[in-house]
Amino acid sequence: MSEHIIVSVKNLVKNYISGTETLCILQGINFDVERGSVVAVTGQSGSGKSTLLNIIGGLDRCDSGSVEVAGSEITGLSEIELSSYRQRRIGFIFQFHYLLKDFTALENVMLPAYMTGMRKKDSLEKARLLLADMKLEDRISHFPSQLSGGERQRVAVARAMVNDPDIILADEPTGNLDPRNSGMVADLLFAGAEKWGKSLIVVTHDETVACRAKIRCTLENGILGGFPLSGENALSEENALSEENALSEENALSEERAPSEERV
Ligand code: ADP
Ligand code: MG
Repeated sequence: MSEHIIVSVKNLVKNYISGTETLCILQGINFDVERGSVVAVTGQSGSGKSTLLNIIGGLDRCDSGSVEVAGSEITGLSEIELSSYRQRRIGFIFQFHYLLKDFTALENVMLPAYMTGMRKKDSLEKARLLLADMKLEDRISHFPSQLSGGERQRVAVARAMVNDPDIILADEPTGNLDPRNSGMVADLLFAGAEKWGKSLIVVTHDETVACRAKIRCTLENGILGGFPLSGENALSEENALSEENALSEENALSEERAPSEERV
C-alpha cells in the first residue's frame, strides 16, 4: 500500500441476519483515503454508513474483504488487538458525545492519552492545547452537565484527537445540534483535522457539513458511489473495467457470429 494512503478498503462485504432474512448491507465497497484528506459520506438512513465506519474503526467485523489502515490489515485482528487499534489509531466522534459525566472537560480529553501511557503532565498539556483549538479554554474545568450541546461535542472532537490517531471517524457529529452550533462544531472539526494533519471520514445528513469536504461520496444499495479511486483500487477497477469490456466485446462478437452459426 502506498505511503500516501491511510485507509484502503477492498471488496468489503457485510450482511446481517435478521430472523430468516439476510440483509445485504455492504456489497463490495472499494476506496482509498489519502493521508490528510477529508471525506464526507452521505446516504439514506439505514444505507450502512455507520456499519462502514464501525468496520473501519474496528467496532464491527466484515464478512469478507480487506481493510488496511496505515499499512496494517485489521480484519484478522483479535478482540484485544482491535481494542488497542481503536485506542491508538482511531479517533471516534459520535452523534452523542459519550463524555464521562464525573470528569471535567480537561480530564475527559486527557484520559485516553493518559490511559495509553502518556505521562500525566504531557496528557494534560495536550488536552489543554486541543481544548484551546476548540475554543474552550475557559470551560476546561466544567463537567459535561455544565456545558452546552455544542460545547460537549467540541470536547468530544478534542478527545478524538488526543491520541494522535491515524484517522478520525465522525458519525453524524452534528446530528444533535442546531444549525449555529452545528456550523461551529464542523468548522472546528475540519480546522482541527487540517491543523493536526489528520484524515477524516465524516458521515453526515447535514449538507452544510458535507459540502466542506473535498471528497464526497454516497452509500446506496450497498455500494459507495462517487469516490475517486487511487492506487491499487484504481488499478483493480481498471482491470475490472477492461475485463468487462473484453466480456462485452466477446458477447458482441458471439452475437455477430450467432446468425452465421445458426445457418450452419
Ligand atoms: P445508517 O448508519 O446508514 O443509518 P446502519 O449502518 O446503522 O445505517 O444500518 C444499516 C442497516 O443494517 C439497517 O437496515 C440496520 O437496521 C441494519 N443493522 C445494523 N446493525 C444491525 C445488527 N446488529 N443486526 C441486524 N441488522 C443491523
Ligand atoms: Mg448511522
